[in-house]
Amino acid sequence: MLKIKNKKLIKKYNDNQLKFNLVKDEKGSIFSGLYLVMIISVILIAILMLNLSIGYNDINKNELNTKTFNYILNDYKSNIPDLSYKVLENLSNKVVKSGAPLTNSKETIKEEIGKSMMKKNKEYYKNSGIKIESKVIYVGDGKDPFHINIKTVINAFKDNMRYNDQITSEISIENLKDPLPAIKCSKYPNFSYNETNYNYGDSLSKFLESKNQSGNQYYINGSSPAIIKRCVYEPYTQHGEGISMKNCLNNGYYHESRDGSCYFHRLEGVEQCLDYGMETFILPNPKLNQSELKATSSPDHVIFGYSYPGESLLINSYSGTKTLIFLDNAHRKKYGFS
Ligand SMILES: [Zn+2]
Ligand SMILES: [Zn+2]
Repeated sequence: MLKIKNKKLIKKYNDNQLKFNLVKDEKGSIFSGLYLVMIISVILIAILMLNLSIGYNDINKNELNTKTFNYILNDYKSNIPDLSYKVLENLSNKVVKSGAPLTNSKETIKEEIGKSMMKKNKEYYKNSGIKIESKVIYVGDGKDPFHINIKTVINAFKDNMRYNDQITSEISIENLKDPLPAIKCSKYPNFSYNETNYNYGDSLSKFLESKNQSGNQYYINGSSPAIIKRCVYEPYTQHGEGISMKNCLNNGYYHESRDGSCYFHRLEGVEQCLDYGMETFILPNPKLNQSELKATSSPDHVIFGYSYPGESLLINSYSGTKTLIFLDNAHRKKYGFS
């Protein structure tokens, strides 16, 4: 192709030479003729270079062999967990901001990952000419409550090359926002949050009051974690030793729990579900430091879901200052306080 084009160019050049001679003959001006030659040469070089670069692109596209094809698709696959996490992050941020629960979180996640993949597929087509079709076929529980499982089917085509695969990804939900407190309390007064914590102001006390919970006033200015982090103190009975519990509360850790809700149900504002879920502690007013106070037990599913009372448990700290949470007997046992 280059050769043919070059022939054309040479012909063009010769034609122009002819014109140059004519100009020279008619006007007798060698200088204006030289300028003409220079301008033409520059144009010719530009055209030649343009042709060359187009030629290289063609060669590159034709050279996309099976090896490169597979390499590009492996790269595509390796992006799926990241892409899914970003979708979850956006969704949970949106729910926290609006306080409005999702009606079917698994379906919404499926749809949103689908949309995000479609965008990616267009990018890949633009850059490599590979046509990718992908579909999320499953969104469900992961290996533990801190993971969710996503299955995707991928089909890809380019010339006579074909690719088909089903990918299973375990996506960690750690460091995502916990939307449940926002859904439950954002409609009550003085509810606020920052990057790490929910600060309830009067909202949680009002919420508990609406559930006829005695001791609800102890939760004025209470707080709880805004971000899901897995507790490092395992087995959980370690919480009863030394200052483990204080560290756990300071870090806002979450724990595996049969009673606490899973991440899908948290997005839907459901505080207890049949899935294997999580629980964290909701701290009452930080000024409380008395023993034998009674109020709703502090695990979040007891506050937001089926409520029952607990007695104040003073928590040891490194500096010797006392903080407390309310804890019923079953949870005392789980965390090593009995
Ligand atoms: Zn813990
Ligand atoms: Zn659930």
